[in-house]
Amino acid sequence: MSVEFGIITSVVPPGSWHYPQLLSSGQTVRLAGHSFEHLLEQMLDFRRRHLDLCGAANATIERVRADLKEYLCSHFPQNCADSPGSPSVTSRTGISVVNYQKPIDRASDWLGKLGALPISRVDAALAASRAQICATCPQNVRWQTSCAPCNDNVNIRIQNAKGSAYTPYDKSLGMCRIFGTANEVAVWLSDTHSSSDQKPPAVCWHND
Ligand code: SF4
Repeated sequence: MSVEFGIITSVVPPGSWHYPQLLSSGQTVRLAGHSFEHLLEQMLDFRRRHLDLCGAANATIERVRADLKEYLCSHFPQNCADSPGSPSVTSRTGISVVNYQKPIDRASDWLGKLGALPISRVDAALAASRAQICATCPQNVRWQTSCAPCNDNVNIRIQNAKGSAYTPYDKSLGMCRIFGTANEVAVWLSDTHSSSDQKPPAVCWHND
């Protein structure tokens, strides 16, 4: 079973993947996708292109996910991981699949948290040294998905957080599975505002 953002995505809801988008005019437009991720993409794209009809505050991937989850949970309990009637969603490792977060969402959540905190940077040499370590670390994973608008959303946040700073290893930096950080940004921070119950690899610069 596949669960994303509290939605059971391995079960296609009746009528396929769809969402009734309410407009400020009171009309409803049916948005559809050939998959769960495609529907998210369609919803975000539609809202971004029609800010006046959908509301600018609703044109974020977080809001899209929340609205889709609310719709599915209220109409199709079989697609709602939180529903008391949904099948058990515990993996063989004992880790709740409901709590699994895709790399893009962990990175996005961390960037969101970072936005409200004071940031101080390390110098370029230290950042480059950290980036070189992350680039070859097995915990550094790709966060990009097939949802282009979702990727854009995170990329914009990364650019906003790191500004013009870059290291020669940026193209190899993804999300850290231990700390949940977007490494392109994290390597520059004197405090990454992240912690983990998992022990990082010995090579990790967080150990320094
Ligand atoms: S564990 Fe440490 S070295 Fe590895 S990706 Fe995360 S921050 Fe980088």
